[in-house]
Amino acid sequence: MKLIFIGPQASGKGTQGKIIASKLGLCHISAGDLLRNSKGKLKEKIDYYLTKGKLVPPIIIFNMIKEKIESSECKNGFILDGFPRSMDQVEMLEKVVKIDKVIEIYIPDNIAIKRLVSRLNCEKCNAVFNTITNPPKKQEICDICGGKLYRRKDDTELAIKERLKIYHRETEDILHKFDSIRINGQQKIEKVTEDILKELKE
Ligand code: AMP
Repeated sequence: MKLIFIGPQASGKGTQGKIIASKLGLCHISAGDLLRNSKGKLKEKIDYYLTKGKLVPPIIIFNMIKEKIESSECKNGFILDGFPRSMDQVEMLEKVVKIDKVIEIYIPDNIAIKRLVSRLNCEKCNAVFNTITNPPKKQEICDICGGKLYRRKDDTELAIKERLKIYHRETEDILHKFDSIRINGQQKIEKVTEDILKELKE
C-alpha cells in the first residue's frame, strides 16, 4: 500500500504515520524528520528554511524521498508524511510512483497552534509528545527510548503562522487532486487510528 497522510501542522500525521505503518508493515517516511536529520553543508542550507517555517527547495526533499521509497526497507509500501506539500511536488512524485490513497487528518488552526506550542520531540527517536494531551511519563525524557525531549525551533509563533499559511495556500490543493478521505484529528489518538484503519480496509 502506498499512502499519503496530509494535514495541518500538529494534526497527528507523524504520530498516526508511525502507528499505522507498524500495524500494516509499511515504512513511515517523514519529510520533516529526513530534513532535520540531514548532515553537513546541506544541513546548514536546510536549517535556514526550517527555522523560518518556509518550504525547502523541492529538489532537495524530493531526492531524499525518492531514495527512501526505492530502498528495500520500503518494498512493502509506505506512508508519506509531509510530502508532497505542493502541486509541483505531486508532479515529481507521480513520475516515480502511483499513490493508492490519500488520508487527510483534519484539525482547525486554533487547535494546531495550541498543540504546537505545547509539543515536545525526542532528539533520539523523533517521537512526539504534548505536555497537555500526551505528556511524557518523566519530564523531558522520551517514554520510548529514554532520549532527551526538546522543543522544535520552528515551533515559534512566527514560524507556526508561516507554516499554516503555506499549508492553506499550497498543500490543501493536493486534496482536490486525489480522492482523499477526511479523518477527524481532534479525537483521541486511538480513535484516530481506528478511523484510519477502518477507511483503509474499505
Ligand atoms: P514538518 O516536520 O512536517 O512540520 O516539517 C518541518 C519543516 O520541514 C517545514 O516547515 C519545511 O520547512 C520543511 N519541509 C518538510 N516537508 C517539506 C516538503 N515536502 N517540502 C519542502 N519543505 C518541507
